[in-house]
Amino acid sequence: MSVTHCCHGHTHRVSENSIPDNLFRQANPVFGEGLALPLLALLGSTVTCNRCEGDILKGFMSSSTANQPIGARILVALKDQVDRSHWSPWFENIAFIESSTGILVEVPSTLHSSFLQQRYMSIFEDVISDVFEDDNDREITFRVTTPVQVETTTTSHHGEMLSLHQNLTFDNFITGPSNQLAHAAAQAVANNPGGAYNPFFLHGSVGLGKTHLLQAVAHQLRANGVADVTTISCASFTNEFISDLSSGKIDQFRSRYRKAGALLIDDIQFLSDKERTQEEFFNTFNEIYNQERQIFLTSDAPPSEISGLSERLVSRFRLGLVVQLDPPDLETRMAIIRRKSIQRGIKLPLEVVEVMAQRIRDNIRELEGAVLRIESMSRHENLEINTENVSHTLDELMGKISSRIDLRKIEVLICEEFMVSSLDLHSPRRTRSIVLPRQVCMYLGRRHTNCSLGEIGQHFGGRDHSTVLHSIEKIRQTLPVDPNLQRSIDMVEERLRHI
Ligand code: ADP
Ligand code: MG
Repeated sequence: MSVTHCCHGHTHRVSENSIPDNLFRQANPVFGEGLALPLLALLGSTVTCNRCEGDILKGFMSSSTANQPIGARILVALKDQVDRSHWSPWFENIAFIESSTGILVEVPSTLHSSFLQQRYMSIFEDVISDVFEDDNDREITFRVTTPVQVETTTTSHHGEMLSLHQNLTFDNFITGPSNQLAHAAAQAVANNPGGAYNPFFLHGSVGLGKTHLLQAVAHQLRANGVADVTTISCASFTNEFISDLSSGKIDQFRSRYRKAGALLIDDIQFLSDKERTQEEFFNTFNEIYNQERQIFLTSDAPPSEISGLSERLVSRFRLGLVVQLDPPDLETRMAIIRRKSIQRGIKLPLEVVEVMAQRIRDNIRELEGAVLRIESMSRHENLEINTENVSHTLDELMGKISSRIDLRKIEVLICEEFMVSSLDLHSPRRTRSIVLPRQVCMYLGRRHTNCSLGEIGQHFGGRDHSTVLHSIEKIRQTLPVDPNLQRSIDMVEERLRHI
C-alpha cells in the first residue's frame, strides 16, 4: 500500500488487488531506439558484480579492463566504491592520468577538487594501489581543466538544466499497485500545475522510477505549454549555487531559478547538511510556491527522515502531497520485463518472464539490466532462452543482490567447508589455514550480498575496506589456478543458491 499525506485532508488509497488493465499494453515503438539509457543503467547497477564485471565492461570497452589504460581502470574500480548519487555529479567528468610522480586527477572545477579531496582521498589511494597491485606511495595531484559545461549547456536556452530523456515519459511508465498513486498524482501535477498537489514530494528507494516520473512530468508540462520548466538534480543545483556564489554571480543564479515556471528537483536528499544551499533553496521555494507555480521534488526518504534538513524545509515539503513509491509486485515486474524485452526485440516465454521477476524484486533498473543480459546471452552466446539457461545467467548476474543471503550464512557454510571455527574467522590470526577461508568469506560476501566493503570488513574482525578489496582480488586471482579452491567455492555457492 502506498503512503500519502495531504494537507487538504484527502485520503488517498489504492487497492492492493486492483491490477490495472494496462499491465500488458503494447510497447511504444519509439522507445526501442533508446540504447544509451538502458546500457548506462546496466553499467550503474551491475558493474559491481565481480564475476560478470568483465563481460559487461567488455561490451562497452571492447577489451577486458586489464588492457585498459590505468586511468580507465581506476575509474572502473572506483565505480564500485562511490556513493551512487555521487557518480554522475562528481565523477563523470574527471580523468586519472599517470604522471612521473604519481597520478594526476583532472577535474572540471575547484569545487570538484575540494569535494573529492575531502570525501574520497583515502578511497583514491586504496584504489590506485590496488590497480597498480603494489603499496608504493604515489602522489595524487588535482588539476582544474575547463569550466563545467555539462550542466550549463542547456541552461540558457530553456531554463532546463537536466536534459530530458525522450523515453522517460508517462507512456513508457508501467503501473501497478506499488506505483499507481505516484503515477496518478504525477499526471495530476502535470495537467494542473500549482494546484492541489503543490509541492509534490515523491520518495522511494533507488531504481523505482522517481527520476522517470519527474522527467515524465517535465515532458508533459512542456507539452502543455508551461514556460521555463526547470529540471535539475539537487547535486547540480548545489554545485551551481556554490560556484556562482564564489564567482559573484549569485544574482543571476537567483533570477534563473526564481523565474522558473515549474521547478523539478531530483534527489533533494542531497541538501542534507548543506545549510547555505538549504537557505537559498528555501527562498527559491517560497517565491515559486507563493506564485502558485509547481514544485516537484524526489528523494530517497520522506521529508522528516532526511537527516540534516532544516525543520522549516521539512514542513514546506509536507505542504502538498507526499507519496511513496514501493517496490513493484510480481505482476508489475512481469509486465515491465515483457515491455522491456519487446522493446529490445527479444521474445521471452512466459515462464522465463516469471523466473526473472521472481529473482529480481526491488529494483526496476536491475530488471532492465537482466533483460539486457538475457538478450546478450541469446544473441552472443547463442543459448536458447529457457528457464534453465536464464536461471544460470541470472545466478551470475544477480548473485550479489539476493536478499536471502547474509554474511552470517556464508560464514556458517565456509566454516563447514574449510573446517575452521567462526571464532577463528573473526580473530586477528593470520595463519594460512584461516586467512584463506576468511578471504573466501569476503569474496562470497561481496558477490552474494549487498554489503559494502566496509561492512564486510567490520563483520570479519574489524578489518578495513582495503583489506577486504585485497582479499577479494586475491581469491579472484587464485581461482583460475587452483581447481580445489574452485570446487570448494562452487560447492558453497550451490548451497547458497538453495538457502
Ligand atoms: P530512481 O530515480 O527511483 O532511482 P529511475 O526513475 O531512474 O529510478 O528508474 C530506474 C529505471 O527503471 C529507469 O530506466 C526507468 O525508466 C525504469 N522504470 C522505473 N519505473 C518504471 C516503470 N514503472 N515502468 C517502466 N520503467 C520503469
Ligand atoms: Mg533517480
